[in-house]
Amino acid sequence: MNKPEATPPSHFLRQIVQSDLNDGKHSSIVTRFPPEPNGYLHIGHAKSICLNFGLAREFGGDCHLRFDDTNPAKEEQEYIDAIKQDVEWLGFEWAGKVRFASDYFDQLHAWAIELIKSGKAYVCELSPEQAREYRGSLTEAGKNSPFRDRSVDDNLDQFARMTAGEFTDGVKVLRAKIDMAAPNMNLRDPILYRIRHAHHHQTGDKWCVYPSYDFTHGQSDAIEGVTHSICTLEFEDHRPLYEWCLNNLPVPATPRQYEFARLNLNYTVTSKRKLKQLVDEKHVDGWDDPRMSTISAFRRRGYTPASIREFCERIGVTRSDGVVDMGVLEFCIRDDLDASAPRAMCVLKPLKVTITNYPEGNTELLSLPRHPKHDIGVRELPFEREIYIDQDDYMVEPPKGYKRLVPGGEVRLRGSYVIRADEAITDADGNIVELLCSYDPETLGKNPEGRKVKGVVHWVPASTSIECEVRLYDRLFKTANPDKGEEGAGFLENINPESLVVLKGCRAEPSLASASADERFQFEREGYFCLDSKDATADKLVFNRTVTLRDSWGN
Ligand code: ATP
Ligand code: MG
Repeated sequence: MNKPEATPPSHFLRQIVQSDLNDGKHSSIVTRFPPEPNGYLHIGHAKSICLNFGLAREFGGDCHLRFDDTNPAKEEQEYIDAIKQDVEWLGFEWAGKVRFASDYFDQLHAWAIELIKSGKAYVCELSPEQAREYRGSLTEAGKNSPFRDRSVDDNLDQFARMTAGEFTDGVKVLRAKIDMAAPNMNLRDPILYRIRHAHHHQTGDKWCVYPSYDFTHGQSDAIEGVTHSICTLEFEDHRPLYEWCLNNLPVPATPRQYEFARLNLNYTVTSKRKLKQLVDEKHVDGWDDPRMSTISAFRRRGYTPASIREFCERIGVTRSDGVVDMGVLEFCIRDDLDASAPRAMCVLKPLKVTITNYPEGNTELLSLPRHPKHDIGVRELPFEREIYIDQDDYMVEPPKGYKRLVPGGEVRLRGSYVIRADEAITDADGNIVELLCSYDPETLGKNPEGRKVKGVVHWVPASTSIECEVRLYDRLFKTANPDKGEEGAGFLENINPESLVVLKGCRAEPSLASASADERFQFEREGYFCLDSKDATADKLVFNRTVTLRDSWGN
């Protein structure tokens, strides 16, 4: 039933890998996905995962999962577990064990000492403010730190005492001795080690000095034999430092760094910091709130791994920044679910209909296909005297082109009979609470000669349908670029107050009682839905709308 995978369109990284293999530069490739475990993965990470794991798979190489865990203050085991789950759910497998940059702390520390010994690193005691001042600016060269010319012995002693825990956080740092006048600010004696008295989720209390990202990443790549170290464009300016470290240390391999443009998606945010703020301040129901841009949210919402992979392939890999329309992602989900999701009926806003000429107590078991195009079996649906249709499917004063039920008009019940609306019963306030209809026994599954009934509505039997809750999601932000220009709280003001609508008292067809958490359905005429993995229980069906049937945005 799944479409055969099309040959993927080529992109520059695929071409680089291909030509490195053709030229014999590498006999096989090694890539890595290096998340920092300081939050859940989002759709931007999915792009990086598909790229790194995808290239390795395509060219028969390996992709490592390596946690870039150099900042113990912001990292947690919960994030590590979630990240592993997300990578696996997306359909990828890392080569060997899960790796951690912290696995290499001993080696990195030894290399730092080597740099000191060769006169390429020194312990600096400038305060953070002073260091900033000494650093200069894009238009102005920096100044040498007064600590730059310390003797090797003094530096070794200072670094040993930093490591032994003699000093408090921030008092001293180890810096590379490169060039304070370098046009690339990253080369102006960057920090290699910081003092941080913090418990680390992997190394416990072993260390109170931690290597910087720049002193960790390239060397970790080298230790693991990574051939292509693929990262996002903001690291382009770090590449000279990445190479400086590799060139000045006795590393076992020389990986190359390549950059590509990060994925930005409109109507959402893809920054762990902002996503964390949404969670911490309870604007959403956790990292997996189905409105979030996290992979766990997409999973809970019913997106399929295949559709996310297809999306990542479709948007391509380039070196120019852009914003991808959320509609592209939704298109991929619809496309996948249209082909695979079984059909079912669920009435979101029930209106009771009594079919007055249908014998009381009678039940007919109708059999409806689970999919209109693929043979994936049938579902049974009892037809009886009392049913529910949606309130929106009956109108006293219908707009032009309305094909559903009107007073005295006819409509087909999906997979069943044609009914006619004879009378509406209203409550004291004039609200319609019930319809009295009559059915035509000649119309089961077909229109009789010479009579064409255009409208088809969905319905469920009153006595055997199941009461359920349905959650309708919309975009979390009401503006295309929620964090335009501002830092901090700005994006919170753009939260869409209608991003979640909870409907209670909905009625699902009986076959949905056996729905399982990993199934998605097309509720006819309403969209694609799945059970909510968090809140649905054996006694209470809760459905999430994965995506609408068609793109109604901007209409
Ligand atoms: P954030 O800015 O959301 O905190 P990050 O880049 O700090 O993300 P990491 O955990 O360091 O998050 O990212 C792991 C990998 O995923 C990195 O290689 C990074 O380049 C890549 N990545 C992160 N965000 C995106 C994105 N929006 N598009 C593509 N790749 C991304
Ligand atoms: Mg990062």
